Amino acid sequence: MVDYRDVLRALSKLDEELATHNPAHPLLFKLFGPRYSKALEIALEGRVKKYVFRPSGRILWIVVGRQREYLIYEKVAYCSCDDFYFAIMDGKALVCQHLIAQRLAEKLGWYDTVEEEDGLFDSLMKDWRGPIPVVNSNGHDDEK
Ligand SMILES: [Zn+2]
Repeated sequence: MVDYRDVLRALSKLDEELATHNPAHPLLFKLFGPRYSKALEIALEGRVKKYVFRPSGRILWIVVGRQREYLIYEKVAYCSCDDFYFAIMDGKALVCQHLIAQRLAEKLGWYDTVEEEDGLFDSLMKDWRGPIPVVNSNGHDDEK
């Protein structure tokens, strides 16, 4: 299990480097490895979306991936992708490419803003979160 403070430290390091260097600086590639190249590509392709819900003003960040859209909680450094789930939770990586891409896009203004009604929030969240596992009334997954 990864120490979450390391994840947050890695992301604030990214913020720091982005503030003083251009996003193509070799140091950034060195810090995050191949995930950084992928993140830069995502941000450059305009695949980071900022959803602003009205009238609440609630904000959600979405990264459009190859297979599906990923939900990012940028404040707690969470992403709904498999890489985040497996590599980060196992401590094999600190951040996934989507978290880096969201950071890049936000800092550099490379994102699209999508305005939606508050009434659509729940159904959009359902799509982004993916299917919810079915649990029986006894509270356990059916293994039959
Ligand atoms: Zn991710």
